[in-house]
Amino acid sequence: MRQLPILTLLLALLVGGCNTLPDASDAGLQAIAPNIYVEPAMDTMTRTRLIQTLAEAERAISTMYGSVRSRPPVYACVTANCYIHLGGTYGSNAEALDDRILLSPAGLNWHFIAHEWAHVELFSRMTPRAWQQLPQWFNEGLAVAISQEPEYSENAWQYLLTANLPRPGDGELQGLRTLPQWMDAVNFYQQQVQARQIAGGMGVSPVYTAAGHAVRNWLATAGNQGLLVLIQRMNAGEPFAAVYPVTPR
Ligand SMILES: [Zn+2]
Repeated sequence: MRQLPILTLLLALLVGGCNTLPDASDAGLQAIAPNIYVEPAMDTMTRTRLIQTLAEAERAISTMYGSVRSRPPVYACVTANCYIHLGGTYGSNAEALDDRILLSPAGLNWHFIAHEWAHVELFSRMTPRAWQQLPQWFNEGLAVAISQEPEYSENAWQYLLTANLPRPGDGELQGLRTLPQWMDAVNFYQQQVQARQIAGGMGVSPVYTAAGHAVRNWLATAGNQGLLVLIQRMNAGEPFAAVYPVTPR
């Protein structure tokens, strides 16, 4: 079972601006490439892999949007001390603080980076008003669709169905508009699944998986262009309910 998806804190942090990372040099990190800063103890092989991993995450953003507008600096730790000292939450793999991505020793993985970057990229493309009106379930579902995290894949969705594990229905999912509503549902369903998990069963997060499934289905019809139009129409002042799930023209 994965730890709590702390990734979702991004929204609150971006909106609230209550948590900031220090400058890389102040944090004692070394620059190894543009926008990549690492704990000095990181070995050469890991540094090389991290640069490749970041490029892979960028390709995922670009594949969805056709371009990449945001360039979030990435801070990568190889010790838990570094991660916690910089503001990471114990037990999480990665977090976005302000417009920067903080990676734990377990977070050096393109899926985690792409998930965080997906939030930052979407934020960069929306007006503050549109961003505030964007439902959390869609923001997370899109991040899941872009980052292709295996834990929240279509296979994971099929497992939820086959094993008949507790999961939110469409109406319930789409009612998760705010971050507190989202977090409450994530925690509730994780507890439900943990209580019924069959021995050796595949660990899943029903709410993230359901959000990814819903957004992937929508994208299959609306396409990448549909996402761009959705953003454009929300930026122009239309409510989310007017542009989803209607396929944009
Ligand atoms: Zn997220």
